[in-house]
Amino acid sequence: MDLASLLDRIAFDVEADDARGKVADYIPALARVDPDRFGMAVAELDGTVYGVGDWRQPFSIQSMSKVFTLALVLAQAEGADLWDRVGREPSGDPFNSLVQLEHEDGIPRNPFINAGALVVTDELARYGDAAEELLTFLRKESGTPTLAFDAEVATSEAEHADRNRALAYFMAAYGNMRHPVPEVLDQYVRQCAISMSCADLARSSLFLARHGIRNDGSRLLGQSEAKRVNAVMLTCGTYDAAGQFAYRVGLPAKSGVGGGILAIVPGRCTVCVWSPGLDKRGNSVAGATALDLFTTLTGWSIF
Ligand code: GLN
Repeated sequence: MDLASLLDRIAFDVEADDARGKVADYIPALARVDPDRFGMAVAELDGTVYGVGDWRQPFSIQSMSKVFTLALVLAQAEGADLWDRVGREPSGDPFNSLVQLEHEDGIPRNPFINAGALVVTDELARYGDAAEELLTFLRKESGTPTLAFDAEVATSEAEHADRNRALAYFMAAYGNMRHPVPEVLDQYVRQCAISMSCADLARSSLFLARHGIRNDGSRLLGQSEAKRVNAVMLTCGTYDAAGQFAYRVGLPAKSGVGGGILAIVPGRCTVCVWSPGLDKRGNSVAGATALDLFTTLTGWSIF
């Protein structure tokens, strides 16, 4: 498979289709991004990366951070404690919804909706500042030591975080927060405000395509745990569009409101695509189109 030509073909087709969606504006700093940006990168198991368009342009990773914080928690000896505090079922509700939490006694449906991701951040905070732990890991895996938090995005989100604050306090009322809510929220907002390119994200997630093995050959996750993270990505990674996404693309994936989508082809490669225009569920419109084309043209879905 000539991946360079394949990516050119996908970029050409995406360009020709003018459906772009709407840039997230509930975090004001994200609203300033040009909706016409498009980049895509594929990383092979040996670390070779192919890209097209804006594949080297850093953007806000937002909820794509949740894959990595989940993996970092599960990599700990007590990692499985997490599953006492968060479920593994698709929510069928928007990523920032409050409604299920009360019916389900403060236990979020899964680690990728915001409530669940706040619990994951709270678990990771047992071992240090969760956002710093994540940044250290991502700098190493991406091979880009200059990766950083975007302070403007972090401040902008912190000023507009009442929904996430409500989710966290609600869970605290059910005894499902270890640390004070302001600390957890601060770490969560900073983890979402890391800027990375498609190339950085594709390289950093290769451990999920290699059944748990990091880029330096060491093991981050056991084979079963890597499978489990991929399974939760497939069923919950694109929120209340996960069924439609599995139907269309057929890969474990995680989206973020910065417009990125990361997808894993276990045993073969990782793919990251970025285009800031979102659909109503908060997933990149052109990103989903590009991944749909990718699995259609290669036959590399998991099904
Ligand atoms: N930081 C964003 C939030 O908490 C992340 C949401 C997302 O990317 N889906 O609302």
